Amino acid sequence: MSSYCASRFRTLRRRADEVYVGPVGVGGNHPIRVQSMTTSNTQDVAATVKQAIALAEVGCEMVRITAPNVAAARCLQDIRTQFTAAGFGEVPLVADIHFLPSAAMEAVEHVEKIRVNPGNYADKKKFAVQEYTDAAYEAELARLHDAFSPLVKRCRELGRAMRIGTNHGSLSDRIMNRYGDTPLGMVESALEFLRIAESHDYRAIILSMKASNPKVMIEAYRLLVQRMAEEAMHYPLHLGVTEAGDGEDGRIKSAIGIGSLLADGLGDTIRVSLTEDAVYEIPVAQAIARKAMARWGEDDAIAADHFPIDPPDALDPFHFKRRVIADQGFAPGAEIGPEQPPRVITRVRDLADLPTAAKALASSTLQDTPPEGVLVRVNQVEDLNRLINAAPAWPAAFLVVEVDAGLNPDDVAPLLMAATSPVMVLRTFAADHADDLPAWLALVQGGAPAALAIAASPARWGELAAQLATRDASRVLATLDDADRQDGHAIGAYRRLAAHLQAHGLQVPLWIRNTTATALAGDNSFLSRLLEASILSGALLCDGLGDLISIETEADPVRAVKLCYNVLQGAGARISKTEFVACPSCGRTLFDLQTTTQRIRAKTGHLKGVKIAIMGCIVNGPGEMADADFGYVGGAPGKINLYVGKTCVQYNIPQKNADDRLIELIREHGKWTDPQPASAG
Ligand code: SF4
Repeated sequence: MSSYCASRFRTLRRRADEVYVGPVGVGGNHPIRVQSMTTSNTQDVAATVKQAIALAEVGCEMVRITAPNVAAARCLQDIRTQFTAAGFGEVPLVADIHFLPSAAMEAVEHVEKIRVNPGNYADKKKFAVQEYTDAAYEAELARLHDAFSPLVKRCRELGRAMRIGTNHGSLSDRIMNRYGDTPLGMVESALEFLRIAESHDYRAIILSMKASNPKVMIEAYRLLVQRMAEEAMHYPLHLGVTEAGDGEDGRIKSAIGIGSLLADGLGDTIRVSLTEDAVYEIPVAQAIARKAMARWGEDDAIAADHFPIDPPDALDPFHFKRRVIADQGFAPGAEIGPEQPPRVITRVRDLADLPTAAKALASSTLQDTPPEGVLVRVNQVEDLNRLINAAPAWPAAFLVVEVDAGLNPDDVAPLLMAATSPVMVLRTFAADHADDLPAWLALVQGGAPAALAIAASPARWGELAAQLATRDASRVLATLDDADRQDGHAIGAYRRLAAHLQAHGLQVPLWIRNTTATALAGDNSFLSRLLEASILSGALLCDGLGDLISIETEADPVRAVKLCYNVLQGAGARISKTEFVACPSCGRTLFDLQTTTQRIRAKTGHLKGVKIAIMGCIVNGPGEMADADFGYVGGAPGKINLYVGKTCVQYNIPQKNADDRLIELIREHGKWTDPQPASAG
C-alpha cells in the first residue's frame, strides 16, 4: 500500500472527516462538491448577487467571493441576504481573504466559510530575502498564532468552516526561506495554520494545495495527505489547478491535476478555474466529479488489501522522475528514447480512409505538431497488400500496423521489406498466444526498420515481461490491450504494466492508448472524451510514465493529433506552443481577462516554449504566476505592469500600449520569432 492513498491501482476513496459548510456536507460520505467564484467587484452588490445566482442555477454548490478589504467584507452581509431572498439560502457563500485579518473578521460574520491563504494571511512581506534563525522562525510562528487565533475562535463560535488554501506561487518568506518553493513548503505552510487551529480545538477545516503546474500540485496534495496521516489528521481536500487558462488548454490542465488525484481517491470538493465566464467552469467540474464518483463504485467499501498487487508499484509518487527507457532507434526523425519527448500516434479508422487522412494530416495546421505515427488496422493479407501499394501516402515518420490475431509474422514480413518508412507492428498477445512472441520479435529485429508494440491485459503482462526478460527486448514497446475494460481504472492498469516491466528490469517504452476501453462507458461527448484522455494520460505522464501517446477515441485523426499535443503540453511533457498562465479573475481584476488573454494569445501563440502569465492584479498575480518567463499584470485601473520572471521591469504602462511593450520585452530577451505566414494548405 502506498503512503498517500489506499491503492494506486483502484479508486478507493480516502476517508476524510465530515465538514459542514452551512448545510452542505464535505468529505465523509458526501459526494464531491463543485464550487466556483464570482468575478465582479464585491462592492457592486447587485452584480455579485447576479453572478452568484447564475452560478447556483447551473449547479455550483458553494460560491466564493473575494473580500479584499473590510468594506468589501461588509458587503457580504447584503449579498448573503439578497442571495437567500432569491431562493438560494441553502447555497453557502465563501469569503476569499488575502492579507487582511480585519477583512476576515468582518466576513466571518456574514458567510458560511472563510478561505485564508497561509502564504499571505497577516503577512505583507513579499520576496524579502531573510535568513531565519530557529529563534526568529519561532517568533514568526508566535506572531502568526496571535494574528490567526481571533479568526479561528470566531469561526468556532459561529459554526463557520474554513479553508486553509495554500498556493504554490504565494508562499510566505518564512516558508520560502526554510523549505523553498517546493511541495514540502506548501504542505508545511498549511500545517502551521492547522496546528494553530487545532490548539483552539477547531476542526471545521478543508485544505488545498493549488499550483498552476499540475505536477507540483499533484505532489503537494500527495505529500499533504501523507503528512496528515502521520499526524492522524483526516481533513477533507479542496482540489484545483490555479491559472489553468481558457478553452481546451484550461480544461485539460484542470482535468490532469484534479482528475488524477480523484482517481487516487483524494479530493472532496473541486474548482475548475478557467479564464472564462465562471458558469462555464461548472459543467467541466461536474463531469470530472461524476467520472471520479462512478469509479468509487463498490470498491470504496472494500479494504485495500482485498486487491493484492503483484508486483508492487515501484514509483516514487512524491518526486517526479521520468521512467528510464532504452533508445529505440528504428525511426530516424521520430526516435523513441530517453532524450526524446513522448511521440504522437494517430489512428485512421479505416484503411480505405488513408489517402484522405494522409492529405489532412499533412496540412499546414499540423506544421508544429505533426503526427509521428499513423495507426491502421489490418485484418487480412489483402489489407497488407493494399498498404504496400499505398506506401507513398503514409503521412507520418512511421506507420503503426495493428495486426489481427489471425495474421502471422510471415504475412507481415513483405510489408516490412517494401516499406519506405519504418513500421511498428502492434499485436495483442492473449493467453493462447504465449508461444508466438519469439517469431514476432525475430520479425522486427531482422534488419528492416521496424518495432513490435506488444499489447496485453495487465494480468498477462507478468508472464510476457518474464518471457521478454530472457530475450533481446530491443525494438519493443509495451501497451495495453484495447479490448480489455481494465477494471474501470486504466491509470492503475498502466501503472501495473510499468511495475511488471520494472520488476524484470525492462527499459521498454510505454505507449499510452486512450481508447473506448480506457474511458467510462455512457457519455461520448467531446468534453467527456477530452477529460478522459487528459486524466489518464496526464496522471501517467505526471507519474513519469509514457513515451508514446494516442487518443483513439477521436474519429478525426487531425483532431486527435491536436488533442495529444495539448495533453502533452498540459502535463508539461512536450511543449509545442506558447504556455499561457492566466488567472481566472475575481473582484480584484483590473481588466477584462478573457479578451486580453485571447488578444495576447493571438499575438504570441506561435512562441514555442515561452511561458506568459496574464494576471488580473498585483496583489496576488506576481506570486501566482510561478515560473512564467514574462508577466502581464494589472497594476492599477487601465495600467499594466510587465514582468520578466518575478521582477517587475515596467510599471503603469497604459493598457493600450501594453501588448506592444510586452512583445518588445520578449524580443529584447531573445525569445521572439516572427509568426509564419499562413499557407493555403
Ligand atoms: S491574480 Fe487574478 S484571481 Fe488572483 S486575486 Fe488577482 S485578479 Fe483575482
